[in-house]
Amino acid sequence: MSAVLEQFLNENLQELKEKGLYNEIDPLESPNGPVITIKGKTLINLSSNNYLGLATDERLKKVAMEAVAKYGVGAGAVRTINGTLDLHVKLEETIAKFKGTEAAIAYQSGFNCNMAAISAVMDKNDAILSDELNHASIIDGCRLSKATIIRFNHSDMDDLRKKAKEAKESGKYRKIMVITDGVFSMDGDIAKLPEIVEIAKEFDLIVYVDDAHGSGVTGKGAGTVKHFGLEKEVDFQIGTLSKAIGVVGGYVAGKKNLIDWLKVRSRPFLFSTAVTPADAAAAAKAIEILMESTELNDRLWENGRYLKQGLKDLGFDIGHSETPITPCIIGDEKLTQLFSKRLYEEGVYAKAIVYPTVPRGTGRVRNMPTAAHTKEMLDQALSVYEKVGKELGIL
Ligand code: PMP
Repeated sequence: MSAVLEQFLNENLQELKEKGLYNEIDPLESPNGPVITIKGKTLINLSSNNYLGLATDERLKKVAMEAVAKYGVGAGAVRTINGTLDLHVKLEETIAKFKGTEAAIAYQSGFNCNMAAISAVMDKNDAILSDELNHASIIDGCRLSKATIIRFNHSDMDDLRKKAKEAKESGKYRKIMVITDGVFSMDGDIAKLPEIVEIAKEFDLIVYVDDAHGSGVTGKGAGTVKHFGLEKEVDFQIGTLSKAIGVVGGYVAGKKNLIDWLKVRSRPFLFSTAVTPADAAAAAKAIEILMESTELNDRLWENGRYLKQGLKDLGFDIGHSETPITPCIIGDEKLTQLFSKRLYEEGVYAKAIVYPTVPRGTGRVRNMPTAAHTKEMLDQALSVYEKVGKELGIL
């Protein structure tokens, strides 16, 4: 290794470790369900995005295995050459139905989707108004587009209106887009979409909503845009197939002409192979299940309410979440890491989230209850929270 790289890596890794900002990765020896195994230890899992438990659902496993039997394990080429299987087309039709749009396009991940979609439409002559807490993939997608990025304060509609007005009246930009997460994953709050759409109409903005954490969760499972009945007003409905849907992949749902454009201009679609047959079949099945019944969604919300009330009653600061995502805000990064470590030792897997994922001084242990948790599991987790909270002087 070159000496300059060696020095760079050693110094920076050391600094992160000293500041308690270095995250260790623990491989799972089990499915990512409500209970997991790590290094032979059984833990109640409160860190997964498998919100509805679909990642291990027997119905999804069955269609995935059938897809492997019929098509094999890979798509074989990029979509535009001959890597589009009928399974990908069916997946896209199912997504469009689910999201109430004319069409949809699937990508290999939600991250890829933001890199693809933003830069296919926006360029250096444009401006993007972006919520300051938007996901990293949105930030990177915006940067890739070379548009001027104007950040607005988190969910602050006065700030958005002011900046939209300034951008519009400056006459400097051909197109202006507003981008927001549908559900903010660190605090569990929901974007103020009705106000955003109103401001967009006033200043002629393109509206882009990344509902990675809302799909399967808000709107009885249909997501945040449907929750507010804004399918016609939101131009880009972005989602991931890796969280509530339980598989892997990402998508844009919108009008047919938008999807047609993305199919000829978005680079990860043109230059990278699509998800596997098993992924496409399983994701389509998951969405069909969500459209047929709200049973899993109802259970998710019930478990979310139960865990939130329990933590609040114990005296934890759980922030202002409006969804089942339940942060326990500790503040100090080192204490947050220690808290999470002690939870782990006592049998609860709830990951510490610290800077740079969240702002400095707002370290938290984030809890993601799912439809697959039982009340007994949640009660057990709550008693561990009480014990460790008292031990570390947080309660
Ligand atoms: N967008 C948002 C808002 C997300 O939270 C995430 C995942 N953390 C992504 C995109 C990326 O999704 P994926 O895991 O499918 O790449």
